[in-house]
Amino acid sequence: MRIAAVRPSDYARTRNALDGAVTGLSPYITHGLVDLREVAAGVAANHRLDPKHRFMFELGWREFFRHVWQHRGHAILTSIHPGPLPDEAYARELPADVREGRTGVPVIDTAVRTLYANGYLHNHARMWLASYLVHLRRVHWRAGADWLYAHLLDGDLASNHLSWQWVAGTFSHKPYLFNADNVASYSPASWHSPGSVIHTSYEALDTIARGGPLPPVRPRGEGVQEPALHRGPPTGMRALTASSAAVSDRDVWLVHPWGLRDPPPDLPADALRLSICPAEFHATWSWSGARWAFVGARMAQLSALCWHDSAEAIGAALRSARSVHSVDDAHLDNGLRALADTGAPRHLFAEVERPCTSFSQWWKRTTAIDFATQATSMKAHP
Ligand SMILES: Cc1cc2nc3c(=O)[nH]c(=O)nc-3n(C[C@H](O)[C@H](O)[C@H](O)COP(=O)(O)OP(=O)(O)OC[C@H]3O[C@@H](n4cnc5c(N)ncnc54)[C@H](O)[C@@H]3O)c2cc1C
Repeated sequence: MRIAAVRPSDYARTRNALDGAVTGLSPYITHGLVDLREVAAGVAANHRLDPKHRFMFELGWREFFRHVWQHRGHAILTSIHPGPLPDEAYARELPADVREGRTGVPVIDTAVRTLYANGYLHNHARMWLASYLVHLRRVHWRAGADWLYAHLLDGDLASNHLSWQWVAGTFSHKPYLFNADNVASYSPASWHSPGSVIHTSYEALDTIARGGPLPPVRPRGEGVQEPALHRGPPTGMRALTASSAAVSDRDVWLVHPWGLRDPPPDLPADALRLSICPAEFHATWSWSGARWAFVGARMAQLSALCWHDSAEAIGAALRSARSVHSVDDAHLDNGLRALADTGAPRHLFAEVERPCTSFSQWWKRTTAIDFATQATSMKAHP
């Protein structure tokens, strides 16, 4: 439905505006209901979609962040290179007025309230929120990234944490800054912030980001309650511990939080559909109740049985199954990835072997491979 509604030319023209023609596909992509190839193919079925179209370019950002994660692993959770200030210059805690959406800066308070209400923020709002926290409140990007990740329905370690680093300037050449004029150009009136700390020049913002005196904070209004976070499936999901008796000698289709797609049509009718929630991951990365509701509802559609246990216990139980098939994702523990047949990885863009340090480097390489492949296949099929 959402894919059929995408209008790539409107998207290219309006995507930077908060009321622009963005797709809202990110929770479905993050949780593996669809992959980027299916998104691109679905849109290309109805519209001309050149590989260098703006829409493809934005899908490319997601694949680029996955490329970086694949090469750097958990190192993406720490600063990739020094930013405008040393890591120690930044606070490790989120200020209460930001967390409660009462900073007195309308764009920030509206963003926080929208995030809590919808589990979603437009890309521009994410950039403004991240820039304000890191550069005008001098909060470490990692504290902001962890907090935002927990409340998003589409929270993705690669896209989220690397975007924060891009804004912070630890994965880009310079800090990303924005001012009140920028907000006024891309958002409805309720977000506009004249007379606030961001009503200033880019030169002044740059001086602050590089260590100049921080502007005064003037919290205002009633705060909003931050939604509760959960370190595992809520009791309503009735998740059990792993047990080999349930899977012994069965063909298993393994559903996981990043693989919520329909099973393949040739799945044997008597195959067991089993959902898993890896305990180690969830103990580290909390999710909002809304995200658990989204994931839990889809898991309930796909399977009648759900396990919440350590990767080791899940792996040990699954060893008694006749076969295990699933969808691959970097979130899965390596032991589980080795145990399940996940098929070939489904990239949208040609895979770039050499680690790239910037999007433009990756984009140049991946599109060069794509165009070389297209040229070869055109020669082979005149
Ligand atoms: C600070 C910050 C944090 C972010 N955290 C996440 C996150 O946790 N998960 C996440 O999926 N995206 C994240 N993004 C990227 C982007 O904001 C979202 O993918 C996008 O807003 C999702 O809305 P949409 O599906 O309507 O996007 P659309 O604009 O309709 O784009 C379609 C799809 O393209 C991809 N895409 C578009 N823009 C980007 C981008 N800049 N970076 C990566 N992928 C992109 C997404 O998969 C998106 O669903 C973050 C960006 C910033 C600045």
